[in-house]
Amino acid sequence: MSRHPLPPERLEARTAEIGGGLTIRRALPNRHRRTVGAWCFLDHAGPMEFAAGGGMHVGPHPHIGLQTFTWMIEGDVVHRDSLGNEQLITPGQVNLMTAGAGIAHAEDSAPGHAGKLHAAQLWIALPEGERRRAPAFRNHPQLPLIESGGFSVRVLAGSAFGHRSPAEVYSPLVGLDLTTTGRAILAVPLAGAFEHAALVLSGAASVAGEALAPGTLLYFGPGREELALRTEGPARILLIGGTPFGEEILVWWNFVARTREEIALAARDWNAGRFGAVRGSPAPPLVTPDVAGLNLRPALNPDRTP
Ligand code: MN
Repeated sequence: MSRHPLPPERLEARTAEIGGGLTIRRALPNRHRRTVGAWCFLDHAGPMEFAAGGGMHVGPHPHIGLQTFTWMIEGDVVHRDSLGNEQLITPGQVNLMTAGAGIAHAEDSAPGHAGKLHAAQLWIALPEGERRRAPAFRNHPQLPLIESGGFSVRVLAGSAFGHRSPAEVYSPLVGLDLTTTGRAILAVPLAGAFEHAALVLSGAASVAGEALAPGTLLYFGPGREELALRTEGPARILLIGGTPFGEEILVWWNFVARTREEIALAARDWNAGRFGAVRGSPAPPLVTPDVAGLNLRPALNPDRTP
């Protein structure tokens, strides 16, 4: 473990559009960094208010080789999947869907009325020994909450401050939501073997002495034992981390795999209806982007990942 860890890297999120015409900030994958631990995707949606019929409407689409991890801060979204699950996720809850060998799902803001949306959606790459496991879905309404240094710390994934999230993950990682209503100072203990990244979801904060606001992911390499957080006003910070993911992954569309052949097969399976039906979603199924182009690209293209 290094006594003098490298300075943090500032990674700018880009905007992207997801179903329903919703504009979000995509912090991962980033052209300068693909993963933080096994976390391989990070979208920040909102905070926003929308008119009736608006909000999130992502029609049925498939996933393989990953877990989708949704942290709902404001608003209500209905999850439906090809296992037959229909689950309303409400503020303070995590939805964790393990795609493994393959699953399809849809996500829709509750229909018919105006609403709010503030959420983070992340993907966790599954390691080689787990990535073909049977698909599963869990809603986690109860997550550990710790009050420390003026922060309310919610343990979304992994463990911190002696508390462990019930969310089942398959590699060493952590995910924390740290919220303040005013001036606060906290040193967050870190696992020295983990790399970490912090994203301000609202307000502003000083993270290890760096001024941080929404839209910038601040990355820290392994070898740190704590992270100094300071706020002067209301703020919310997402902190993720994990053991550097030692496997070369290929991310294309909604798939995480190792080879182009696996990706092409998954795309064919989706187009042939072999992921199973997602019943009850008001939005039409998503169409796979042109798989033919896949053979031409030397590496993953994050712009093709919705
Ligand atoms: Mn999805």
